[in-house]
Amino acid sequence: MRTLHQEILHISNKMQSSIALSKAHILSIRTHGESTYPNECCGLLLGRVTGDVKTLVEVLPVQNAWVSEAEDCWPEQKQLTEKRRYAIAPADMLKAMKEGRDRALEIIGIYHSHNDCPAIPSEFDRAGAWSQYSYIIVSVMQGTPTDLNSWILDSEGNFQAEEILTVAPTEIKK
Ligand SMILES: [Zn+2]
Repeated sequence: MRTLHQEILHISNKMQSSIALSKAHILSIRTHGESTYPNECCGLLLGRVTGDVKTLVEVLPVQNAWVSEAEDCWPEQKQLTEKRRYAIAPADMLKAMKEGRDRALEIIGIYHSHNDCPAIPSEFDRAGAWSQYSYIIVSVMQGTPTDLNSWILDSEGNFQAEEILTVAPTEIKK
């Protein structure tokens, strides 16, 4: 039997969440994916959370640190390259958290690209995901950015598509 707290958590995890962002945000993620092809790009999403809606304020591109991070964290996978994997260096996470704190923003998610693959999370993406974050994936096919989707973990730890609300930049308080 679940406790009341678990029940509330369970119900809230089932609720539809969404992420509000502007066309400029989408463009900067797509452009980043295009520029690093055939390697995966990655970056952090700074914004605010109000109830079930996340609002993206700033896209922070970061270096794909897969090669140096894999050595410590995923030695069995280090033969894979940035063509198939991404990692964000802890120093970049800290820098973003600090920048966010100064502006009353928080890290609301992570984005990365999939090259010549659909914008659907891999098992590796799922295993490393945090339940509070939105995961935006852009598919880059033969160097051209195509689909862009946002994903969020449900209470069973599986990714579900998250609704993307495209809003005018003026609706996003900096
Ligand atoms: Zn991925």
